[in-house]
Amino acid sequence: MKSEWKKFKKRHKRNWKVNPITGCWEWQLWLTRGNYGQVTWNNKPKRAHRVTYELKYGPIPEGLFVCHKCDNPRCIRPKHLFLGTPRENTHDSMQKGRRRYGGSGNPKAKLTDELVLSILSWCKYEVDNKLIATRYKVHPTTIRLIRKGHTWKHIPRD
Ligand SMILES: [Zn+2]
Repeated sequence: MKSEWKKFKKRHKRNWKVNPITGCWEWQLWLTRGNYGQVTWNNKPKRAHRVTYELKYGPIPEGLFVCHKCDNPRCIRPKHLFLGTPRENTHDSMQKGRRRYGGSGNPKAKLTDELVLSILSWCKYEVDNKLIATRYKVHPTTIRLIRKGHTWKHIPRD
């Protein structure tokens, strides 16, 4: 697997760009509907993030999906990927839909456990509070408080 991964990186290193803010490796070639990167690997058309996941961590068990912690379908960085069940995958795309959650109301109501978990995964990459806040359409203070563990205390941190 390791040498295959090297081969992939060598062959495709110009085909993704590192996003300096999020650290995402954004695929620059073909994108499928839904914005997933598309690559031909071993003569088969595949989703680029599935290929990088497999090369880095091994085969994807049947029935599982490779999801994005970073919520960025074109990202192929193995560190940003995780295996999920179809249910989690649905949650994943629901979160994408949740960008429209903005507006007014109780600030706490805008977030859910899942969103807070995904915010916390951004925090791990030391992304600026303001950027995370913009992404989730909340106030930077909300992010700061989550980050410090003052709110959403029941969500596990590592
Ligand atoms: Zn990413």
